[in-house]
Amino acid sequence: MKTIAIKLSQLKIPLLMAIAFCISINASAQLTEAQRYEESKKTEVWKPVPPKVEAMPNQPPSDAIILFDGNGIDSWEAIDGSDAPWDHSPYAMTVRAGSGDIVSKQSFCDVQMHIEWRTTREDDKTGQNKGNSGIFLQSRYEIQVLDTYQNSTYPNGQAASIYKQFIPLVDASRPAEEWQTYDIIYTAPRFTGSELTSPARLTLLHNGVLVHNNVELKGQTEWIGEPKYYAHECLPIKLQDHGSANSFRNIWIREI
Ligand code: MG
Repeated sequence: MKTIAIKLSQLKIPLLMAIAFCISINASAQLTEAQRYEESKKTEVWKPVPPKVEAMPNQPPSDAIILFDGNGIDSWEAIDGSDAPWDHSPYAMTVRAGSGDIVSKQSFCDVQMHIEWRTTREDDKTGQNKGNSGIFLQSRYEIQVLDTYQNSTYPNGQAASIYKQFIPLVDASRPAEEWQTYDIIYTAPRFTGSELTSPARLTLLHNGVLVHNNVELKGQTEWIGEPKYYAHECLPIKLQDHGSANSFRNIWIREI
């Protein structure tokens, strides 16, 4: 009897909930159409209204900051602040091997970024030396650019890897001399003083294919040793000169 009594008492609350649910359904069913319409309005949210953005096919969104569209290389500079030493034409800007990395003149924190890149053909090179460059968010966190089409290397250093931290989910690489795209959604790390309070997060589409889904970065990109965070503010985008005459075009960015 005791067992049955416990079971009945355990049933009491779910039973009451079920009865209340049935009553509520019944009440809702009894509302007139006008009353149902009034009820539906209670869950509508009218503010804030999102700002309008024009988004035409194969065009930067109307609120994007253009970092390169063929009209010069003025949005970029050398690390020492002198003029960007890379070659450029109305079609692309190209690494002048040995001239050094370039950085955007503007600093950024959280962003959506689009960039197109093309590795030069280097049949005489292999591994990490073949068409190497990179896109460094906040000048510190590298998304690898590399000719890894039929070119073996460590997967956490192949194209679309977050260098030495995350292997891409799939390999969407195209051959050298073909244009490829990265679409990046990046949340900058947060610091309180020198203390990390929230790590950087990154989502990446390579040629339209998801290869990183909101991964949590482990720290600043390192070639040797484990990544660590060092406190910083908003910083420029950096493009790497790794000795290969790779090209970039259609670079735009939206601050989030
Ligand atoms: Mg690189």
